[in-house]
Amino acid sequence: MKIDLTEVLQSIGNEADIDESLPVDFAADGLKLTGPVKVALHLTNTGGSILLAGKVTTEVELECSRCLKPFTTKLEAEIAEEFSHSVQTSQARKELELKEDDFVYPIDQDNTIDLTELVRQELLLSLPFKPLCLNQCPGINKEGEK
Ligand SMILES: [Zn+2]
Repeated sequence: MKIDLTEVLQSIGNEADIDESLPVDFAADGLKLTGPVKVALHLTNTGGSILLAGKVTTEVELECSRCLKPFTTKLEAEIAEEFSHSVQTSQARKELELKEDDFVYPIDQDNTIDLTELVRQELLLSLPFKPLCLNQCPGINKEGEK
């Protein structure tokens, strides 16, 4: 999903809020979304770049790592990223890759940014390493003894 930054870019200090559901589908990444992907973001024009901060939330179906049953859970990821026009050239990109912890996303020529890729990455990173349907999930063996 693309966001138009034209107004925010007009002068330093301009701010805007984004509060929307994204029409996305991350099935190709193995994410089974069971609810809308909602983003609540605050944009600030700092002069050299646009700061984007807030969070993305959704609901997904996961498989319990103990009993292997599917269950749904909420995912929430914090977002704090920087977007800039100055990363348009490949030379600038190369320089940016050298300092990875300071990654800046590009703003397109038409003053838009694409949130889909950012949201995709943040959601994948927020997936639990060992998902559990319950904190005290008895696991697959006890389930079968019932
Ligand atoms: Zn379980």
